[in-house]
Amino acid sequence: MVKAIVGANWGDEGKGKITDMLAESSDVVIRFQGGANAGHTIINDRGRFALHTLPSGAFYPHVTNIIGNGVALDIRKLVDELRSITDQGVPAPNLIISERAQLLMPYHKLQDAYEEERLGGKAFGSTKSGIAPFYSDKYAKIGIQVCDLFHEDRLMERLTAALAIKNVLFQHLYHKPALDAQELFQQLLALREEIRPYVGDAVGFVHQALKEGKTILLEGQLGSMKDPDLGIFPMTTSSHTLAGFGCVGAAVPPTAVEDVICVTKAYSSSVGSHTEPFVSELLGEAGDELRRRGGDKGEFGATTGRPRRVGWFDAVATKYGCMVQGATKVALTCLDVLGYLDEIKVCTGYEIDGKVTDVFPVTPLLMKAKPVFTTLPGWKCDIRGCKDYESLPQQAKDYVDFLEAHIGAPITMVSSGPKREEMTYRTPKL
Ligand code: GDP
Repeated sequence: MVKAIVGANWGDEGKGKITDMLAESSDVVIRFQGGANAGHTIINDRGRFALHTLPSGAFYPHVTNIIGNGVALDIRKLVDELRSITDQGVPAPNLIISERAQLLMPYHKLQDAYEEERLGGKAFGSTKSGIAPFYSDKYAKIGIQVCDLFHEDRLMERLTAALAIKNVLFQHLYHKPALDAQELFQQLLALREEIRPYVGDAVGFVHQALKEGKTILLEGQLGSMKDPDLGIFPMTTSSHTLAGFGCVGAAVPPTAVEDVICVTKAYSSSVGSHTEPFVSELLGEAGDELRRRGGDKGEFGATTGRPRRVGWFDAVATKYGCMVQGATKVALTCLDVLGYLDEIKVCTGYEIDGKVTDVFPVTPLLMKAKPVFTTLPGWKCDIRGCKDYESLPQQAKDYVDFLEAHIGAPITMVSSGPKREEMTYRTPKL
C-alpha cells in the first residue's frame, strides 16, 4: 500500500518529521518531485539533519530510499549530503536513484541566477537551485536522464544539443560566457562514478514491492500552494507538489495510493518572497516573536536560512490545500509553539472587493484578499513533548476541533514538538 505525505500549504509544514516517523513501519520511501531547493528537518536519536535530496527514510537501515523519476537530481548536492550524514555516524542509506530521473545541470543553476539578475526588482526570489530551468528543459525534451550517463555517445550528443540553446541565451540575453560541452562531459563522467552503485530500475523495484505487499511512502516537497497548476501561480515551484503527481514522479499506480496525509502547521509560515500573497501574515513584533518561537529553532529556511514569513492559521488556504491533495488524514504540527499566546486568531475568511468568502481564489483575486479572523482563547502553558492527546488543555483541543471543522478534513495526528516521539493521536470528529 502507498501513503503520500504532502504539504497543505507553502511548504515547511513538518513533512520530514512525519515521514521519518512513519518510515519506522514502512519499507520504501520515495521522493517524487522537486530538487535540493527546499529541505526537511529531521531530529532523531542521531542528531539534527537537514535533508534536501535524500528521502526522509534515510535513517532506517530497513528502508529502501528512492529518488524517483520526478526529481531534479543535483548529483553534487546528493553526494555531499550522503557524505554529511555518514560523517555524523549514520550508516549509508539503502538508496536507489531512478535511472529515469533527470540531471540538474550546472547550466540550470547559472540560468536561474542570470534570470533573477535580469528580472532585478521583479525577481521571483528563487533559491537559484536551477529548478525552473530544469523542469522547462524536461518538458522541452532537452533534459538529460541518469541513464544517459552510461551511454557516452548519446550523452555527448544530448549535451551538445542542450548547450546550443543555452549558449545563445547565456551570451546574447544575459551577456555571460558560453559553456564548453567537453568540459561539462568530463565533469559528468566523474560524477557518474560517484552515483554508479545507486542507479537502478526504480520503476521495476516499486512495482515488485507493491506485489509483495510492502508499505511505500511518497514524500512530497513544498505544498499545495506551490503547485504550478493549483497553487498561487506564478509564485509557485516548477514541479507538482500534489499527491496526484506522486503516481507519476514515483511510478506508483494511482489505485495503490490508500492514504494521503496532509501536513499543516498550527500557524502559517512561508519562505516565499515578500511580493507573494500571504493573507494571514503577522507582522511587526508579534510576527518576530512567533518566528523566533516557531519550528525547532525558529522559522528560518532549512536550505536558505532565510527568515520565513509567519502568520495565523489560514483555514481558507488550508481547506483548499487539503482538498486539492485529496487528504484522507491531516497531521497538525507545531501546536506546542502557540502555548505563549493569550489569544489565537484563525483566518476563517477572505474579504475580496467587499465580499467575504471561504473559497480560496485565483491569484489576481488572492492579491486583493484581506483576512477575516476568528479569535480563540490560548491555553497559556507548555505542551512540548505531550504524547497523550486527551491530556492536552481543553483550549488546545478546542483549537484543534475548530481547525478541523474549518478545513473539512480529519486531523488524526497532532505534533507536540520537533522530535520523532513528540506526537499525539486524535480521534477525528468529522
Ligand atoms: P518540511 O519541509 O515540511 O519537512 O518542514 P521543515 O523541516 O522545513 O520545517 C518544519 C520545522 O518545524 C522544522 O524545524 C521541524 O523540526 C519543526 N517541527 C516539526 N514538527 C514540530 C512540532 O510539532 N513542534 C515544533 N516546535 N517544531 C516542529
